[in-house]
Amino acid sequence: MGSSYSRNNHSNNRRNIVQRTNENRKNAEKRQENETKNTLQDEMPHDEKQRENGYENAHSIILEGQDWKKDRKDNGENITFPDKNEADNRLVELKKKGRWKDYQIRSSDDKKTWWLEMANPQRIFRVAWTIDDGPHGVLTDEMKSEGLNGLKQVTWYIQRNKLYGKEAAFKKLKAIQDKGGEIAIHSFHPTQDHATWFPVAAKANTSKAYSTPYEGKSENVITKDLGDFNSELKRYGIKVKFVRLPGGLTSELEVYAKTLGLTDAEKIRKIKKSIVAKEDVSSYGKEAIQMQNDFNTLKAKLSELDLLEWSGTFDPLIITTNSWQAETSGVKSRDDSTTHKISLGASEPGSKTDPKQAGIYERKLDQMEKENKSSASLVILAHDSSTADAKAVAEDKKEMERLAEIRGVVIKYETMSSLFKDVTGNDAANYDVKY
Ligand SMILES: [Zn+2]
Repeated sequence: MGSSYSRNNHSNNRRNIVQRTNENRKNAEKRQENETKNTLQDEMPHDEKQRENGYENAHSIILEGQDWKKDRKDNGENITFPDKNEADNRLVELKKKGRWKDYQIRSSDDKKTWWLEMANPQRIFRVAWTIDDGPHGVLTDEMKSEGLNGLKQVTWYIQRNKLYGKEAAFKKLKAIQDKGGEIAIHSFHPTQDHATWFPVAAKANTSKAYSTPYEGKSENVITKDLGDFNSELKRYGIKVKFVRLPGGLTSELEVYAKTLGLTDAEKIRKIKKSIVAKEDVSSYGKEAIQMQNDFNTLKAKLSELDLLEWSGTFDPLIITTNSWQAETSGVKSRDDSTTHKISLGASEPGSKTDPKQAGIYERKLDQMEKENKSSASLVILAHDSSTADAKAVAEDKKEMERLAEIRGVVIKYETMSSLFKDVTGNDAANYDVKY
């Protein structure tokens, strides 16, 4: 695939990941327990439809020019045998690896050449790489070439302050869109990085994860900037459909609750949950009501602009706490839950490694096999903010492709819009958002 990472780099990165994973294990596991629950529940119910129209595209993207039905080596070379015995042995080997459902033994008419072939279409795994925080002069190019290995079907959740007044930067984004990529909105304040989407006070922003230029402002004033940024992008021909809050919805609601003086963590958790679930929060007091009102103002603006806060669920209008399902990160403080190099192969049948150490991708592969599903999907968050992040993306992408190969699964890379189409059956561009 032309990746520039050598084996040495690979094992260095692996050591780093082991170290980091140990440090963050406890937190990550707790969070993952909750998130995996959501993640694993949102499989699409209309697999049958996709069986008809999804596979052909997938094959042409990943296995272009290859006779994908035939058993093959990782380099794409077909595997053949001079007699049936050897083919039988190969089938046993593949069964051990979990590919047995899809293969049957075939031979040439003269019985001199034997091989294994898929009896049914392969399973398909839809992967949407979504990259936050850019655009960034040098790092975006690094993420594109080193991280994503030139992959075009990627969604870039961008920040307005990185573009403001820079015509060339807008044109670069338009070029990404023209080549098959997608632009989405991450933050919209003209000059501040990661400005919160709620009127958060500086003093509540203890983690310093945000900037707080909207302190004391009304939600209407804040969301006007969202509208302005959307129009600005439109003027350059950039069509946005998806948005993602700077810290994800759940952590933004958290700092907003603290702004309003709430301190009880359990109470805040319940309020957040109820607000996202559209439940009545009046019993929690006036702060909860204000949070809900402001969230409703935001949703009304999203509806007016036809923008979606979507994480890959079957129902287009379900808002989840995060607009991603797994994260790939090279930075210590962040989650790195897509694959777990520490348990390389943990999900492969016969492995002695604790399956809990598997990443969300691996768990989804397991689930697909266990439930005999023909497809699955994953929205992965990564950040356009360091060389280590680009390296982590390259590692995970390679590892996911390796595991897919072993399982007889085809990965189809998606933008959020193409994933939306495949998962919900709706055309994103024309989807009328009514939150
Ligand atoms: Zn961000």
